[in-house]
Amino acid sequence: MMSNREYDLLVRRGKLLGQVDGKLVDIGIKNRRITKIADEIADNADVELDAEGRLVSPPFVESHIHLDSALTAGEPRWNQSGTLFEGIEIWRDRKQNISIEDVKKRASATLKQQAEQGILFVRSHADVSELQLIALQALLEVREEVKNWMTLQVVAFPQDGIYSQPGNLALLERALQMGADAVGGIPHYELTREHGVNSVERIFELAAQYHKLIDIHCDEIDDEQSRFLEVVAACAIATGMGAKTTASHTTAFASYNNAYAFKLMGFLQRAQINFIANPLINITLQGRADTYPKRRGVTRVKELWQNGLNVSFGHDCIQDPWYSLGSGNMLDVAHMGVHVCQMTGLPEINACYEMVTINAAKTLHLHDYGVEVGNTASLLVLEENSCYDAIRLRRKPRYVIAQGKLLTHTQPEVTEWLEKT
Ligand SMILES: [Zn+2]
Repeated sequence: MMSNREYDLLVRRGKLLGQVDGKLVDIGIKNRRITKIADEIADNADVELDAEGRLVSPPFVESHIHLDSALTAGEPRWNQSGTLFEGIEIWRDRKQNISIEDVKKRASATLKQQAEQGILFVRSHADVSELQLIALQALLEVREEVKNWMTLQVVAFPQDGIYSQPGNLALLERALQMGADAVGGIPHYELTREHGVNSVERIFELAAQYHKLIDIHCDEIDDEQSRFLEVVAACAIATGMGAKTTASHTTAFASYNNAYAFKLMGFLQRAQINFIANPLINITLQGRADTYPKRRGVTRVKELWQNGLNVSFGHDCIQDPWYSLGSGNMLDVAHMGVHVCQMTGLPEINACYEMVTINAAKTLHLHDYGVEVGNTASLLVLEENSCYDAIRLRRKPRYVIAQGKLLTHTQPEVTEWLEKT
């Protein structure tokens, strides 16, 4: 039923992200859109929420996750070495018996877990190295089913490589025809350097042909000779597709010698591609072949950020063969990023918050994101009144508003002291 009130929902006395002077505003929502932001809105609404000075933030954006493998940790066995490559082998066995229902059930459960923690935009990879394209089909169905509260992008991800087996390239192209949003790749896992280079070039051709975004698992290895990032940069410069292109992981970048890294940074600035680091998983998967000193295995996040490149943080995995932990809380991801990337100065902590919100939105190429008049009304009222406290405490948002509707309300934890001290 359409309400004849001026607003369907009002959020009162919120502190907007980036508002440094402590000023509070009211936010009016009508027909799923933000229609007014003002010091005080006189009208009433059907639903009114008092933010009491808390931070009103655009939703968290999960820029890198594998929903098809989520919630499978230990199936059929635990990853004992803790390496990326044992993870790929375990997943190869697990995916022998995946079904549409199996993937949909786990993906939907994960998305709900994410939404109640304030994530309303997700980019998931779907493994398309399997003949029936079951993971892809399932995630495309889920994308449709959740679209009224969650925006899901699906990347066609050739987990086993494009040229490692005949037929893999055709499967990747088929996935794009079926409706994947982006083309993926894994050049460092192709059998030779040349295959890796060819795979990157082919990915750019496919993206142009099918009008897709690009998100490549790039150099996710400690090998300082793994240099596909330069190939991605070269293709982005040649095609002008940098804004639509993302290099995920790029962990080898942390192992490059500085002379090469500084030269590369200039090329990356010309290419203007996006970067995703996954600090939770990179700190656990990488450095496994090292004794001591042991590398952190996370790309040069701080330097990319200082050089004006767009960097976001992803969770990558939630309870799967590569990472058995994870809860879908982007503040956990940002918290690990602060530590591993040594971004502990206050402007750096604030930047890490942007890496799980506005930077990630840019990576996903979202055009209707942010707490601004005219945008779709998707926003969070956090428990805290600063990014610093949000990352420090990592609690669920008090309210999650998705596309103009109040989706979840979380009661804060209350601890009662029973002894007087
Ligand atoms: Zn990944």
